[in-house]
Amino acid sequence: MKLGLLGGGQLGRMLIQDALKYDDQWFTLDPSKEAPCHAISDFTLGDFNDYQTVLDFGQGKEVVSIEIEHVNVEALFALEKQGIKVIPRPHIIQLIQQKILQKEFYKAHGIPSPEFQVIKGREQIHIPFPFVQKLNTGGYDGKGVQVLRNEKDLELLWDEPSIIEPLVSIDKELSIIVAKNERGEIRTFPVTEMLADPELNLLDFNICPSAISPEVEAQIEAIAKAFMEAANSEGLFAIELFLDTQGKVWVNETAPRLHNSGHQTQEGNFNSQFEQMYRVLKNLPLAETRARGYSGMLNLVGEKGFSGPVVYKGLEEVLKRPNVYVHLYGKTDTKPGRKMGHINVVSDSREALIKELLEIKTQIKVQAK
Ligand code: ADP
Repeated sequence: MKLGLLGGGQLGRMLIQDALKYDDQWFTLDPSKEAPCHAISDFTLGDFNDYQTVLDFGQGKEVVSIEIEHVNVEALFALEKQGIKVIPRPHIIQLIQQKILQKEFYKAHGIPSPEFQVIKGREQIHIPFPFVQKLNTGGYDGKGVQVLRNEKDLELLWDEPSIIEPLVSIDKELSIIVAKNERGEIRTFPVTEMLADPELNLLDFNICPSAISPEVEAQIEAIAKAFMEAANSEGLFAIELFLDTQGKVWVNETAPRLHNSGHQTQEGNFNSQFEQMYRVLKNLPLAETRARGYSGMLNLVGEKGFSGPVVYKGLEEVLKRPNVYVHLYGKTDTKPGRKMGHINVVSDSREALIKELLEIKTQIKVQAK
């Protein structure tokens, strides 16, 4: 089958890597010729935000999907009209692209998410300090999100369409990956705990299973299923949640695609998020998602102060560990904060897993030559 992906980044690369054990032809579209998918797929250089480029790219494909949500949705609607299968469906990508629509969707479907106010620009805020401002569009990896703590901070308020939310007192940041195929099967992965790097605001570690009660796990699974019912689309989605210090669960946001919080499923679960995504695209029976034990992931992120051809210092030492799996994304140049790869660790206990992740973090450095 001819499968097309908008975006040629690491998520697409790992999907294709996994799926090459089946018989398909993979096509990718990305504006950078150094894109991680370049070497392993039939690659088109072009802008996935451009209507005509996406429309042309879709021709002759049986399924078109995404590995990034900032794509031209109008072209996806047009491809769907031509009878090409688009997964996930364009309406849900369009909704997720805009934080305001996303929040209104949660509210309309009874999915718990922090209360919010929509603003068009600098306006009177009704939500008490401290609050969070999130730009309606254009936010990514923590950009376009800021916390305002007092009257004095108000001058920092961005004069753009945004949502305002109360600052949640977060105990844990969690994620659940859920998939649905055209046959209507829905399957979730075990809930993952995400630990962030406070400076870069990037996901740093994942740990799975999470240290949450079976009740909270069940509640999150129910939220994921409710989301899928309401979304009315096949696809694989990552729902990011907060568990607050009162024990309440809130949906923060959803990504309509493969997600960093699912990387440890590569070796940690019976099947990975990439295998599941493949099965969704081909409308195959969904895969078993159970965890094999404890697993975790550490992002390999470009260190501050280093730009240029990448070197992974300490990689050999890390590879001497028996329970460690290294995944590099084929990016030649590093820069501060750039996601260059990740390391998965499997373990018999949560304690051993965390200890090892912390050790590896000090052992390996992403620097430039
Ligand atoms: P992005 O789309 O850039 O990932 P998020 O909405 O996930 O943005 O916000 C980034 C981070 O900011 C979250 O992972 C969380 O740590 C923090 N954050 C976002 N919203 C809130 C909130 N309402 N209360 C507390 N922290 C928040």
